[in-house]
Amino acid sequence: MTATRVLVLNSGSSSLKYQLLDMRDSSRLATGFVERIGERTSRLKHTALTTGETRETTGPVADHAAALKAVSEELGRDGLGLDSPDLAAIGHRVVHGGSSFTEPVIVDDAVIAEIERLIPVAPLHNPANLTGIRTARSLRPDLPQVAVFDTAFHTTMPESAARYAIDVSTADEYRIRRYGFHGTSHAYVSRETAKLLGKAPGDVNVIVLHLGNGASASAVREGRCVDTSMGLTPLEGLVMGTRSGDVDPAVIFHLARVGGMSTDEIDTLLNKKSGLIGLCGDNDMREIRRRVDEGDEQARLAFDIYIHRLKKYIGAYYAVLGRVDAIAFTAGVGENAAAVREAAVAGLEGLGLAVDAGLNAARGDGARIVSPEGARVAVAVVPTDEELEIATQTYALVGASHDLT
Ligand code: AMP
Repeated sequence: MTATRVLVLNSGSSSLKYQLLDMRDSSRLATGFVERIGERTSRLKHTALTTGETRETTGPVADHAAALKAVSEELGRDGLGLDSPDLAAIGHRVVHGGSSFTEPVIVDDAVIAEIERLIPVAPLHNPANLTGIRTARSLRPDLPQVAVFDTAFHTTMPESAARYAIDVSTADEYRIRRYGFHGTSHAYVSRETAKLLGKAPGDVNVIVLHLGNGASASAVREGRCVDTSMGLTPLEGLVMGTRSGDVDPAVIFHLARVGGMSTDEIDTLLNKKSGLIGLCGDNDMREIRRRVDEGDEQARLAFDIYIHRLKKYIGAYYAVLGRVDAIAFTAGVGENAAAVREAAVAGLEGLGLAVDAGLNAARGDGARIVSPEGARVAVAVVPTDEELEIATQTYALVGASHDLT
């Protein structure tokens, strides 16, 4: 029997999210998560999309191994267990693949060692991703495990975009360069945008704006990433929910020397207490818009700073690409916040950019164009689907190296 299912695992420091897909039609069979792993109040929520049934359990889940076992049991109850011969592979989201991983790879000991070697540049994410990989491997040692990297799509950036203008030997010694993140989303959305325009990815230039709680922009020329806003870490670039995005690096010396803050305190300040939450106390764009509509000045300023940065990146990537066919908005804010899309392109008619008020305000589930008919540059809303992209890349790799038919 042909194995056509792929389990996608996204392991965070205290959470495990999963989806099981059938790659014959990319349909979802099950989805769920375990959160607060390691605490007494861990919670597992599992939905079998084959039956529509949702089950929730609360109670201590000691570690990722226990979490994956619990997930496996839940899947098993729906006849979708990890031991099923229909399971072709497990695809793991891995945040940092450095310069080494330019595409997904089948996990072996050398791959694990390399992901481990990259921990210094991704101290929060790579250890959690590795735990997920190790646990899955111990449960199904015979099954291909595939690592799909958030950074891989960006490895096509030219050196002129990837390098920071700092001393070359220092940069090389510490592997300091722009890696970029959200790569599976940028890859998927840029391809889907081409599809929406009725063209091949190799025939279009797209600016992708992934605006979620984390946010990043990318410039994609003919299907290949040529620049992106996140850098060595996911802190650089756009204003985010809790991250500052771009600041003058001297802000850090100033806070250390004049403010007496430690490196860890500054790290926490810029990663967790800045961005929208630092500016106005809220990081949810719905709440910020509600406050703006009520005349709240602090929320208005936060929104304006967010939009100003976004506009700067649109302009910068327009210049990097030279010709732009589409700007695609995606992720929680990009897909849902019409006010953000409208404000981001306001005044950019000279660049061929505008939204049609009616199309932009209309709600819709699928990919859609919200610019006026005949606009020089299409403004698109393209829902992202990182799990599907991970599953697709995983299945393509496994299908290529094992005869599954
Ligand atoms: P993500 O990280 O892609 O899940 O996006 C999460 C963010 O999307 C939330 O923090 C909200 O700010 C934003 N969001 C979700 N739904 C809406 C909505 N209907 N309107 C505006 N923002 C939204």
